Amino acid sequence: MAIREILQIPHPVLRQKARKVRALNDDVLRLAYDMVDTMRDANGVGLAANQVGELWRVIVIQLPDEEEARIYVNPEIIIREGERRVEEGCLSIAGYKGIVTRSVWIRFRAMDHTSNVVKLKAEDVLSQALEHEVDHLNGILYTDHMEAHEKLVKVEPEGENAEDSEDGEDNHNGHSDGTPHMSHNSESGLWLPEEDSRNTPATTKLK
Ligand SMILES: [Zn+2]
Repeated sequence: MAIREILQIPHPVLRQKARKVRALNDDVLRLAYDMVDTMRDANGVGLAANQVGELWRVIVIQLPDEEEARIYVNPEIIIREGERRVEEGCLSIAGYKGIVTRSVWIRFRAMDHTSNVVKLKAEDVLSQALEHEVDHLNGILYTDHMEAHEKLVKVEPEGENAEDSEDGEDNHNGHSDGTPHMSHNSESGLWLPEEDSRNTPATTKLK
């Protein structure tokens, strides 16, 4: 297993549509496990294959309170219900966050790493993460869901480089406990709505 480079915007692969996986072979599994390592290393909640430069419909998710990562192949959102406003970030848009509209709950279907079909109803962070990652497979970024008057908020107002500028506590490689550290630091793939984003001092226009 290996940690791969996470592509940053405006890399074109982030705007391409990933292909359906025909067979869950060793290459696909290796990609999925690399994605799990990469997601954990970056303290993310989720990662899509596009983000490591592979155009296959594979996503991985690990919720902050879960021990195991979820591997979903050919994921599909079958039903979306309701709307809610949530704060969100992306490992491919490092150092920023924004407010987007997501579903209240979804029905979801995918194949897992053992080729079993998984069907579930998701809400809260899981629903948000699944919508975010399936969007990636279709070349969609969370910023596409932001309305024109809304702005991306810079997570670290003082730093241009989103990487390696923290105090190091959340930044070291090899999280031996495997627990994603969810906070408002720049490495989080998704931001949980635990902090009041209105306190963030600096804002940056999206375009
Ligand atoms: Zn993302």
